[in-house]
Amino acid sequence: MFQFSDQDRRFIQKNLVSWFQKNQRKLPWRKKYDPYGVWISEIMLQQTQVKTALPYFERWMKELPSINSVARAPQDKILKLWEGLGYYSRARNLQKAAQLIIKKHNGRFPNRYADILALPGIGKYSAGAISSIAFNRNKPVVDGNVIRVMARLANFSENTRLPQNIKQFWGWAEKLIPSGLAREFNQGLMELGALVCTPKKPNCSHCPVKKVCKGSQNGTAAQLPNRGEKTKNIPITVTLAVICKNGKIFIQKRPEKGLMGGLWEFPGGKTRKNETGPNAIRREIKEELSVTIKNVKKIARIRHNYTKFNVDLHCYSADLDKGKIRLNFATKGKWVTPKSLTKFAFPAADKKLINDLKKIY
Ligand code: SF4
Repeated sequence: MFQFSDQDRRFIQKNLVSWFQKNQRKLPWRKKYDPYGVWISEIMLQQTQVKTALPYFERWMKELPSINSVARAPQDKILKLWEGLGYYSRARNLQKAAQLIIKKHNGRFPNRYADILALPGIGKYSAGAISSIAFNRNKPVVDGNVIRVMARLANFSENTRLPQNIKQFWGWAEKLIPSGLAREFNQGLMELGALVCTPKKPNCSHCPVKKVCKGSQNGTAAQLPNRGEKTKNIPITVTLAVICKNGKIFIQKRPEKGLMGGLWEFPGGKTRKNETGPNAIRREIKEELSVTIKNVKKIARIRHNYTKFNVDLHCYSADLDKGKIRLNFATKGKWVTPKSLTKFAFPAADKKLINDLKKIY
């Protein structure tokens, strides 16, 4: 199995750290390396790029400037601040972790690796990132950027998603850290992946580690890493209803556990095979709310691609017909004015519909 030679390792360490010192982007969490800010940024950056995460981060820090404020905030506020980032369990776990930090660590973010790893929502990657970036501990990080850079440096052509190969990357990342410089080295690796060693067109002529890069020398860099077969998104057809009564619209809160847990939504669900849209929505509303609806009218069709699903959403307006609403799926239900819909956190597809509803209601 390939290993970096001592000479190459020293070259990478020295050149990457000095490149990072000169070329790093000015990012708010890099101003003081306050552990709270580093933590929030790392959880946000797990699913999105810096450019997208920045406005979310700024808004979050303005609304929730301390660990204490996260611990005490209403969950709806947390989810609203996270709305659009996806993976909502991460937002819920941030709050659980904040509450644990208040209880177990007197409100101060723990600085021991084991204590960081024990927080809800923190895995090996986040614990390594927070330990090295906030506390400059010699702990490795391996994310998509790091895998790409290292696979190219090593000209590693095997499938990088296989567990034994992921283990190999963690081993390399650990051995490459120059002791006492983990903060700058780890960020340097990630920053190089984001700015120079980019997925499609690595800019090798401006790369500080080109001299020892096997992928660049072999002309294979742009084909690496090998990520194996891409899994296809599952297409699903969903119907939902905007149920109206006295100028208000019914919304419901999804259960904590499961997909998009804790978000608000319009009631509805998956359309069955050979089922028409109007029949599907009548059935769904009966199942979810124990009521019947009338005046069912198609108002919009929205397509949205989530991480694993491509949703084809058929949206209907309807009036309540018979029965009293009983929640069989959701944890809460509310009648709200069309204008106040934007105050609640919704899944991205429902949010698109809310935009369209402005023209109707
Ligand atoms: Fe990436 Fe090219 Fe630098 Fe190698 S030389 S690390 S392929 S940018």
